[in-house]
Amino acid sequence: MIEVKEVKTTTQQSNTLFDPMSAYGHEQVVFCHDHETGLKAIIAIHNTVLGPALGGTRMWKYENESEALRDVLRLSRGMSFKASISGLNLGGGKAVIIGDSKKDKSEPLFRRFGKFVNSLSGKYITAEDVGTSTKDMEYVKMETNHVTGLPESMGGGGDPSPITAYGVYMGMKAAAKHAWGTENLNGKKVVVQGVGHVGENLVKHLTKEGAKVYIIDLNQDALKRISNETKAEVLTNLDFFGMDMDIYAPCALGATLNSENISRLKCQVIAGAANNQLADETVHGQQLTEKGITYAPDFLINAGGLINVYSELIGYNRDRALQQTEKIFDFTLDIMKKAAAEKIPTYLAANRMAEKRIQDIGKVKLGY
Ligand code: NAD
Repeated sequence: MIEVKEVKTTTQQSNTLFDPMSAYGHEQVVFCHDHETGLKAIIAIHNTVLGPALGGTRMWKYENESEALRDVLRLSRGMSFKASISGLNLGGGKAVIIGDSKKDKSEPLFRRFGKFVNSLSGKYITAEDVGTSTKDMEYVKMETNHVTGLPESMGGGGDPSPITAYGVYMGMKAAAKHAWGTENLNGKKVVVQGVGHVGENLVKHLTKEGAKVYIIDLNQDALKRISNETKAEVLTNLDFFGMDMDIYAPCALGATLNSENISRLKCQVIAGAANNQLADETVHGQQLTEKGITYAPDFLINAGGLINVYSELIGYNRDRALQQTEKIFDFTLDIMKKAAAEKIPTYLAANRMAEKRIQDIGKVKLGY
């Protein structure tokens, strides 16, 4: 039997739900709860003008529910922009499951979550993300067809990280062309922060081209293995921001670009896989522009993974996914030219281009 607890409410509470939804421009937010499995999840659908809202499910030990809500709203908006700027017919969505991915996972939890996804009838399509795996998505798939990022054995594209890494590599080459007039990375000093699924593959592309790669991670075993395989040099000091380098590639966490770190950075290009690299888009996008650093917008150059899962929806073809990911080179160069011509930060040029496509296609759909 479910125990009913008394819930105290007050009319003095602030508008913590609709105000942030309105600020980010969200269509729908769904709170999912299941007593038996302990599931507490939030699905945020930011925009479905271009197509169904696609975005992974993140499982994270959030400090509190407000933090989880803020994260899912921010991430789902980013997905709308990522899909739009990549020319995909997808909207932006994301889900978060509040919990410890090391302790709280179970088949019933993911199947119950799958039922909630199914209740949205395809308006939201899920996939794996930080804290969830293709194995978890197999459970979700038992309850809904609205899931991508499945293993190859189930007709999916498998781990999207190598494709993401290829897109980041393309974006980095475009940024190099903008900064130095050549896309050739031979001899460039590149610091790759985070050599996980994406970072490792990026290091392989870079070392193959002859870049001088420095790697940094908390995982000592991964550093040792990758250094042996690729000849990348391991950095032991986590505080590397002041070192002499040409390119900084953030491939671990978001928000590493804050006022202090930027003031110490000596690189000319920033291009990496991490989502939301700028701690504050407006402040730090401007700071980078003023310092003359070419910043490749994260949601533009890390879209390879999304392109790969989109390909699953229309019949998976790895070569086609790679070809489309290669176009990130041209898209990135276009954004940089546009930003330079309009004298605005690159993130802003990218945001505007993404918003414009959503508006334009919205008008087409309304029949204007
Ligand atoms: P991952 O978890 O496999 O790798 C992250 C790596 O960063 C790990 O090796 C971890 O030890 C390391 N790390 C964590 N904190 C660190 C710190 N403070 N300093 C140095 N290293 C640290 O993740 P991933 O799939 O490689 O993704 C990397 C980033 O790219 C994430 O921000 C992710 O959201 C983003 N991203 C990934 C994909 C994808 O296809 N996997 C797609 C788009 C964006």
